[in-house]
Amino acid sequence: MTFKALLVEKNDEGKTSASVQELDESRLPEGDVTVAVEYSTLNYKDGLCVGPGGGLVRNYPHVPGIDFAGTVLESSDDWYKPGDKVVLTGWRVGEAWWGGYSQKARVKGEWLVPLPEGLSTRNAMAIGTAGFTAMLAVMALENHGLKPGNGPVLVTGAAGGVGSVATAILANLGHEVAAVTGRESTWEYLKSLGASSIVPRDDVNETVKRPLEAETWAGCIDAVGGAMLARVLGQMKYGTSVAAVGLAGGAALPATVIPFLLRGINLLGIDSVMRPYEARLPAWERLAKDLPMDKLDAMIQPAKLEDLPKLGADILKGQVKGRVVVDLN
Ligand code: NDP
Repeated sequence: MTFKALLVEKNDEGKTSASVQELDESRLPEGDVTVAVEYSTLNYKDGLCVGPGGGLVRNYPHVPGIDFAGTVLESSDDWYKPGDKVVLTGWRVGEAWWGGYSQKARVKGEWLVPLPEGLSTRNAMAIGTAGFTAMLAVMALENHGLKPGNGPVLVTGAAGGVGSVATAILANLGHEVAAVTGRESTWEYLKSLGASSIVPRDDVNETVKRPLEAETWAGCIDAVGGAMLARVLGQMKYGTSVAAVGLAGGAALPATVIPFLLRGINLLGIDSVMRPYEARLPAWERLAKDLPMDKLDAMIQPAKLEDLPKLGADILKGQVKGRVVVDLN
């Protein structure tokens, strides 16, 4: 009745350490659905939770992993029965609650969604929170008027998880994608995902000097925040939108309000964590339809639980390319 999990413990000096341990089933938290986790993944937040915590983890010892996909083992929730394939992202699982870096997880049924038709549990985790969020961002831009043919769409942090999936979806939908990256080694990869042009990070990383620059981008999915987001706001075409997804480059926004007032730019906030169930289903359906699976395969870096302490540190340094998929089988 034991299972393997990555357990993060904190010592008396407040230092955390992560190791793979055999846990007894009695240690699983309360919840109405128990899942045999098949795959999990690595997101930026996982890097924080495997390491020092970043203020996200409530109690130690802790099992990180903000998303997982697997098969229901036991359920007292009417919506799920043993054998059902399910996916979980968000709801602070892996932060406030025990997460998916474990062969077994126990959660609230309302946090799960059924595995979308056309996706395997492995593909669902290759997408994971990062890909789900990228889809939400694409849908938000579409709801604010983005259409293929409007002009180039900028994706920042393009070689990361959110950026890779956003690039592949947008290109597949017929958009011209300009991919911002700080790593020259990823240029060919980004082109293979469908990027039409590469924008070196340094070209857009400088602090705003002029609040308005040439109108260049028809939309933007921003995983970086900070000075880059501030700069990009002044480069947007009239009446277009930026979907703000992440803060890999910083949480501050050293911008002026001029792009909002003189160009009618919209800054759209994207949250994937507390997104209600009804809004999750259409995003997963779109992912199954609009994300080419061969492009998704090209993003995958396979991993085991044992690899996560190192990979967690790497993602915090912006050194992970695409999507790390953790095999729990
Ligand atoms: P990754 O680490 O995979 O990707 C982030 C990318 O940003 C890196 O690969 C790198 O891309 C770029 N980057 C890293 N550091 C810097 C820097 N200092 N300046 C400029 N660019 C930098 O992370 P994810 O894709 O998983 O997540 C991206 C962001 O989105 C994170 O901040 C995460 O917390 C957030 N997020 C938010 C969600 C939400 O619900 N709003 C959900 C999921 C993620 P490159 O090498 O190509 O330049």
